[in-house]
Amino acid sequence: MFEKKEYKFWFCTGSQDLYGDECLANVAKHSQKITEELNNSGILPFELVCKPVLIDQASIRKTLNEANNDPEVVGVVTWMHTFSPAKMWIMGLQEYRKPLCHLHTQFNEEIPYDTIDMDFMNENQSAHGDREYGHIVTRMGIERKVIVGHWSDKQVIKELADWMTVALGVMESSHIRVARFGDNMNNVAVTEGDKVEAQIKFGWEIDHYNVNDLVKVVDAVEGSDVKALTDEYYTKYKILTEGRKEEEFRRHVEEQARIEIGLLKFLSERNYDAIVTHFGMLGGLKQLPGLAIQRLMEKGYGFGAEGDWKTAALVRLMKIMTSVNKEAKGTSFMEDYTYNLVKGEEGILQAHMLEVCPSIAQGDISIKVNPLSMGNREDPARLVFTAKEGKGVACSLVDLGNRFRLIINAVDVKQTKKPMPKLPVATAFWTPEPDLKIGAKAWILAGGAHHTSFTYDLSVDQMVDLADAFGIESLVIDKNTDIRKFKNEMRFNSIYYDRH
Ligand code: MN
Repeated sequence: MFEKKEYKFWFCTGSQDLYGDECLANVAKHSQKITEELNNSGILPFELVCKPVLIDQASIRKTLNEANNDPEVVGVVTWMHTFSPAKMWIMGLQEYRKPLCHLHTQFNEEIPYDTIDMDFMNENQSAHGDREYGHIVTRMGIERKVIVGHWSDKQVIKELADWMTVALGVMESSHIRVARFGDNMNNVAVTEGDKVEAQIKFGWEIDHYNVNDLVKVVDAVEGSDVKALTDEYYTKYKILTEGRKEEEFRRHVEEQARIEIGLLKFLSERNYDAIVTHFGMLGGLKQLPGLAIQRLMEKGYGFGAEGDWKTAALVRLMKIMTSVNKEAKGTSFMEDYTYNLVKGEEGILQAHMLEVCPSIAQGDISIKVNPLSMGNREDPARLVFTAKEGKGVACSLVDLGNRFRLIINAVDVKQTKKPMPKLPVATAFWTPEPDLKIGAKAWILAGGAHHTSFTYDLSVDQMVDLADAFGIESLVIDKNTDIRKFKNEMRFNSIYYDRH
């Protein structure tokens, strides 16, 4: 449901009017060549547009303001081919509001040992000019990504692609709108948060509806539409009636089809892209939305259960960012449920009451109808599967009272040792890095939630860059985590972030 817009990035090369026309013509030619090759690499998710070389304050200011005002421009990549006195950049940078990248590269890869002279040195001095530029960006306290290396290096291009994905997230975040059908679950602390501050920091609009507003739309869905969608489910998924009567089973599945159609209509008419439900606040809904929510998440909607709007918006944001990856493995709302503490086989079984996104599924997806142990509605239909193996990140956004913190844990998703035939929900099983003992300890010390936004398709570095762009704290739990250092990092961060 996320339509890839005609987004672009600009490539802006800095220089000055000191080197003569011939040199500036070469600078322009080199910038063109680099842009072309980067676009031809097939690695970048968006087009990079080469802008005329910037040689004075007026052109810098004009260009960066044009980037601000062009809705197709997501961010600007800067590079100083020669020396570009950085005072010229102050006004432009002060007024620039979009994500910024500093590609610290050089046109030639190797020193031309046999022919190098002072003219060559003066023309190819990004080692020199990029330091001057970097100084002013740092002095002005502007958040930016710095990427170092030759522009033809696949790793460098990959870093640029990863940053573009983060920049997309920063831009699109302010368009996220969450519809809450039900408030935060009574007495639960970690899913609470300051919605005003979330809009200031991330741009999220978080609205509330009486669930019965949705019920009216769900009840008005045509029976023929419900039948058609249920038929689609029956062709797409394995049906596991497990002793229930065929007809009775289908009636339960139809109720989820009705909810899916009604929810989609409600959300699209009001332009929402993330949803929050609460199993205890279902009004006239006959079932807790299970299969319906799973299908909506697969379509790209964010989701958070029990009133958790922070996770819903973060899942949506991750879905947007991963939408540029054609080989994406999946992104889902998730919950830490139960442990395996057997030595050497440690891990956390992830699931929820129902709502796990089928984008992470490996193999068959089945429909089951089972009672919920909580709430007082009909037995809901749900999709049941296990998750793909592989590395991913589990993230939790918490509100510490005066600010947000994003906790990012690198995890390794595995198959469980044995199948769990009696468990009527979709699951993932993962071991957090560096191991369960340290990973869970760090997570708890950081105040991380039981709900997470999980994806296979974003890196720890991308999530850190995203937090940096929003100006919030991030804490990484990965193979380098050491508890003593981690606790100190939180202490240092508290001094920094409480003042910013
Ligand atoms: Mn939950």
